[in-house]
Amino acid sequence: MTAINPLLQDWNTPYGLPPFDLVKAEHFVPAFEAALPAHLAEIDAIAAESAAPTFANTLAAFDASGRLNSRISLLFENLTASETSPALQAVEVELAPRLAAHRNAIYLHAGLFARIAALYARRAELDLDPEQLRLLERVHLDFVRAGASLPPASRARYSALTERLAALSTAFTQNVLADESGFSLALEDEAALAGLPEFLRASAAAAAQQCGLPAGSHVITLSPSLAEPFLTFSDRRDLREAVWRGRVARGAHDGVHDNRPVAAEIMALRQEQAQLHGYPTYADYQLVDRMAGKPEAVSALLGKVWEPAKKKAEDDRAALTEMARSLGQPTPIAAWDWRYLAEKVRQARYDLDDAELKPYFALENMIGAMFDCAQRLFGLSFVEQHGVALHHADARLWEVRNRDNALIGLFIGDNYARASKRSGAWMHIFRSQSGHNGGTLPVVINNNNFAKADATLLSFDDVRTLFHEFGHGLHGLLSQVKYERLAGTQVLQDYVELPSQIFENWAEEEVVLQRHARHYQSGAAMPPALLEKLKRARQFDQAWATIMYAGPALIDMALHSLPNGSKVDIAAFEAQQCELLGVPQDIGQRHYLSHFQHLFSGSDYAAGYYVYMWAEVLDADAYDAFIEAGDPFEQKIAERLRRYIYSSGNKQDPALAFRAFRGRDPKVEPMLAKRGLIA
Ligand SMILES: [Zn+2]
Repeated sequence: MTAINPLLQDWNTPYGLPPFDLVKAEHFVPAFEAALPAHLAEIDAIAAESAAPTFANTLAAFDASGRLNSRISLLFENLTASETSPALQAVEVELAPRLAAHRNAIYLHAGLFARIAALYARRAELDLDPEQLRLLERVHLDFVRAGASLPPASRARYSALTERLAALSTAFTQNVLADESGFSLALEDEAALAGLPEFLRASAAAAAQQCGLPAGSHVITLSPSLAEPFLTFSDRRDLREAVWRGRVARGAHDGVHDNRPVAAEIMALRQEQAQLHGYPTYADYQLVDRMAGKPEAVSALLGKVWEPAKKKAEDDRAALTEMARSLGQPTPIAAWDWRYLAEKVRQARYDLDDAELKPYFALENMIGAMFDCAQRLFGLSFVEQHGVALHHADARLWEVRNRDNALIGLFIGDNYARASKRSGAWMHIFRSQSGHNGGTLPVVINNNNFAKADATLLSFDDVRTLFHEFGHGLHGLLSQVKYERLAGTQVLQDYVELPSQIFENWAEEEVVLQRHARHYQSGAAMPPALLEKLKRARQFDQAWATIMYAGPALIDMALHSLPNGSKVDIAAFEAQQCELLGVPQDIGQRHYLSHFQHLFSGSDYAAGYYVYMWAEVLDADAYDAFIEAGDPFEQKIAERLRRYIYSSGNKQDPALAFRAFRGRDPKVEPMLAKRGLIA
């Protein structure tokens, strides 16, 4: 075949974006077949350099290598997550072990590692600036963690193991997607729609349309933007139970999409990996590269919330049970009742109705709100660009400009759920910021899974998710570092949620809501009484939210703390842990192991689901700086926030960065207070 492959051409497109309209699934295999050897040739050349190793000819050269490969890889990762297809999924399966093999060829490259190790040994004498020293330390650790310092006899086994892990992670993700797109609950008549507010009926109708059903049909899928409000509002207990069970059972059906054996094999390989590195458990191996440092530090934090949250949930359960009785619903209540009854109690106690709030949280207005916050904090402006081809017609593109109007990056927002998109919300990049060759502008994408409608109306949780991902986006966009390995979100895993979670705070600020939370039809500001109710109801049901999150975090740590060589039956282990922890059956867990993608769709969050709470300690304490100043946009604090948190990437140790911002180490109390777990 002699046809031109757009992935291998110069991208003469606006901003050097990928040529989305030309790229097809079949381009990826031949493109990687050219880009991977080219990347390896660059690595060989660095290793074969006749001059003695220096920072410039080894570290800086390594950091600048592989650009063709990385631009293709990033595009591929984004397309398989945001806009996949059967053809792309087939390519993904074919490529997963080959890409892992390529990574191994680099990180197990004896010649290159010898040069890096030689520099690392002499790092104190090299007269490096702090960022150069940090790069040397980080890259050295990357190689060690990838197996470069293993004895040669173990290296082949290590490669085989990581390649198999990559294939298993791909299978795990695809199995979850298959179960999610395989489930749909048709709401056949008016009785099946009982209790659903207008916005949910509209979303269910839109979902039915996407499934190709005739007008007037309604469907609930397992997409959180449909399933969660359905669990909250549907008067039909039997249908709520069907949706709850559908969600819990993802990845746990016998047959080709069964994730239980996949997860068990992943666990066996991870234990072997830890063994080869000389750690007693996989959790120990993972925690070396985190701010927490040791599994015990994580257990101590989770221990501070688990029992107090369960204790607090008892009061809430009593109120919910009373509500169930008054509605003539059966008791004891079940997991598929909790959201529904909590909503009823919330309405009764705070006179607050989610359906009453939603008209004030139109997606378009909330996008305006997050841009406005970035403007007031950091002087950024966002200028939408039309007519540039992106990966999907619903995705939108903005130029991001600094106070002096200089272009600093590009922001893509892709907000709607569709069958071809992974569930959840996430940020990714198409291109990293770096200071090489005069500097590279970052291209950042935020993905959400809101139900598309003529006017998409968000719940307040959705608004927080929108702001959360935008916080990650700003971390990528504001990055100001020299070396790509240290840029943007490439920080320690239990630090990466700080910039995202702290940004959620501005979504709750009264001045922000007053300005932007306007009725999508009339444009009227949210009535002060409603705003007041929203504020008062904020801590309601926090025990439930804490348990839903902390249970899976504890089970993740327990699973990855099993001694090497333990055989794991995923379902039995989970049941036993739930018993041991006393996970309340009427609350349940946000994720069950058979579809827990944080743990098994890759290794970043393995023994790491706790990172959100770790970062919450940091963000609650950091945001308190603005509260203490009495101004959510206080400029001196905002300036420090930009400098030490959003722009500094992985340039310095996160503990030092936090101290530079806050003037002291973080305290845990603001997080506990925010969750209502201490007075
Ligand atoms: Zn996040």
